[in-house]
Amino acid sequence: MEETEKKLISVVVPCYNEEAVLMQFYDECISSIDELSGELDYEIVFIDDGSSDKTLDIMRELSKIDVNVKYISFSRNFGKEAGIFAGLSHAKGDYVVLMDADLQHPPKYIPRMYDAIKESGCDSVGMRRIRRSKKGRVRSFFSRRFFRLMSKLGNTDLPEGATDFRLMTRAFVDSVLSMSEYNRFTKGIFNWVGYKTQWLPYPDTERAGGKTKWSFWSLLSYSVEGMVAFSTKPLAIASVLGIVICFIAFVMTAVVVLKTLIWGEPVAGFPTLITVILMMGGLQLLVMGILGQYFAKAYLEIKNRPIYIAKEKNV
Ligand code: UDP
Ligand code: MG
Repeated sequence: MEETEKKLISVVVPCYNEEAVLMQFYDECISSIDELSGELDYEIVFIDDGSSDKTLDIMRELSKIDVNVKYISFSRNFGKEAGIFAGLSHAKGDYVVLMDADLQHPPKYIPRMYDAIKESGCDSVGMRRIRRSKKGRVRSFFSRRFFRLMSKLGNTDLPEGATDFRLMTRAFVDSVLSMSEYNRFTKGIFNWVGYKTQWLPYPDTERAGGKTKWSFWSLLSYSVEGMVAFSTKPLAIASVLGIVICFIAFVMTAVVVLKTLIWGEPVAGFPTLITVILMMGGLQLLVMGILGQYFAKAYLEIKNRPIYIAKEKNV
């Protein structure tokens, strides 16, 4: 077999306190990639996102026993999005797979994704999770709402259950990296760069060990960030809301004037007054809050800070 004709596949794995699963992940990943060893060389790029456990030690160890293991360690926790950016920037592969360390993105699907990307000629193959396990009913309800709202607001076409588990071509990765914004919402970025994506469904799986880093509230704020990052529609909605309220106020003024002219002025109307005052106050705060969100994001972008800071790496 011609050694030189082999292409390279990079596996990018952001990790935050994953000591419980990292070894198992590595084993499963290797045995899956092994199936492709006739066609592909591999490298694994681990990103230690400021873990406080033994995650980095395990990475160092793995890189000693396997020269194809690369790692980058952040100076603190910068978040998964920063990890993804760092991993993609260091990946050298003709193909790049992005996946979680906790085996919720089962490595056994990599060969199938590779086949799909070759057959379909797409530049990316994404995995779509079907049905969250019974546990998180509330979560899955909100997750569905999120996907719907996102596709309405952002004119994006994000299928339900779309995960970050993805195989991409070099062209796709380079396009993703060309978006150098600070406020990174990977799902939106993947969508924004275009190309054709093929979605493969797979059944939801539990974490192999360790704990999820997401609470309900962090997920909620993440979705708000996503919307602010990829849509300016909330701003438009705010103005429309203002217009509608003005119109209602106008009609109400007319009604009040007419009523006074016809029936004189009784002292009633206190509850209405309070309701209107509260509603107006609430709406104004809401709209100001929306403006504030965009302002805050713009502020952070202007500062032009680095997306992450690495304190140790072997790439
Ligand atoms: N992760 C990260 N930085 C963070 C939070 C998470 O790199 O600040 C990684 C984490 O190690 C895992 C992936 O992102 O590999 C997904 O995280 P998690 O499994 O906690 O999320 P969930 O699957 O529950 O949505
Ligand atoms: Mg997970």
